[in-house]
Amino acid sequence: MDIFNIGSNLSTLKSSNKSLVLRVLNTLGQTSRSELSRITGLTKTTIKNIVNELLDSGLIYETGVVDSPSGRKPVLLNLSKDAFYSAGIYISRDFVYSNVINLKGEVKGEYRCNFEMTESEPAFISIVCECLQSAISISEIDINKIIGVGIASIGPLDIKNGIILDPPNFRGLKSIPIVSVINQRFKLPTFLDNDMNASAIAESLFGKGKNYSNLIYIGVTNGLGAGIIINNSLFRGSDGFGGEIGHTTIDIHGDICPCGNTGCLEIYASIPSVVKQVKSSIELGVESSLSDRKPIAWTDIVSAASNGDKVCLKALEKLVYYMSIGLVNVINIFDPEIVFIGHEIALAGSLIIKPLGDIVNKNILFRNSKSVKIEISSFREYAPCIGSGSIVLEKFFNGEIEK
Ligand SMILES: [Zn+2]
Repeated sequence: MDIFNIGSNLSTLKSSNKSLVLRVLNTLGQTSRSELSRITGLTKTTIKNIVNELLDSGLIYETGVVDSPSGRKPVLLNLSKDAFYSAGIYISRDFVYSNVINLKGEVKGEYRCNFEMTESEPAFISIVCECLQSAISISEIDINKIIGVGIASIGPLDIKNGIILDPPNFRGLKSIPIVSVINQRFKLPTFLDNDMNASAIAESLFGKGKNYSNLIYIGVTNGLGAGIIINNSLFRGSDGFGGEIGHTTIDIHGDICPCGNTGCLEIYASIPSVVKQVKSSIELGVESSLSDRKPIAWTDIVSAASNGDKVCLKALEKLVYYMSIGLVNVINIFDPEIVFIGHEIALAGSLIIKPLGDIVNKNILFRNSKSVKIEISSFREYAPCIGSGSIVLEKFFNGEIEK
């Protein structure tokens, strides 16, 4: 039980100040020493020492001088984005995706493998390792320049012990010690987090979320979940289970959710719920451009809705309504500056985002004082892919791991 925050001795203080400077350069790009001092609140001497150390290690570089009307022309500094890299693995229900990204979150190589229906644990592990190996090979990055591996996975997870517990509809696979497997095979520090948290980190480090200290990422796919960033830090809860807004009850007389509770948000606001509604309208004889389509995929619904199909538009309208209930709840609790919507739902971006923002801002408690921005994630449906490697880079920029 850690009821006290840990104190900082001199070496941890130095390391966290160094990380703070790296983080500022990642967020703002070119910055002078005096600006760094002003933004971080560190003295000019401290900044000078940190900058010298970072220049020596090749993590930052001098980009040139700024034109200044009078006095000394300040030299600008920037992050050497290709000084080091991070590898990522995104484990979804149906496929595994792997990539190598640089310190700015730019993808240097990627690979994707589909899971077969009858995967055993050894076959699953071998596909995941093969996928990461292929992404590293394609990137042509020397493995010694990779700081670590971040695994973003569907849950439930035991984040502390690096285990994928027992995701629903996951071919019966359970209790997979994925972190130790990857760590032993690739000899790199390896970290596990859920795909929603990873996506929120990516948005905060490399997306439009850079400009906000308090943001919420909502991912809608087979289920619905959230990654919550408060004061620039991810909120994980006491055991890493925070952000499960998909399992908050929105209808006490509703259907039973696979989690055992009643009327959970994700029963009504998820991709399968939209597909189900379109199918049942068609079965009832309502005319639709998808009447003869079997099976009906999410992508079919998005393109039919874009072409004005009334059944699909109605299903999206209903999805927006249910999502708005979940969003109002979560906004009333956390008071974020902005909410980003990502994962598969991002494909329907322009069809949903405006009505969603309108309904939410009409219903939040503090509607008369402020409005909350609702936008599509900077990385759209790829948010968890960029998010996986970002798990490592978040620790790097927080000074929790060094190279
Ligand atoms: Zn539930």
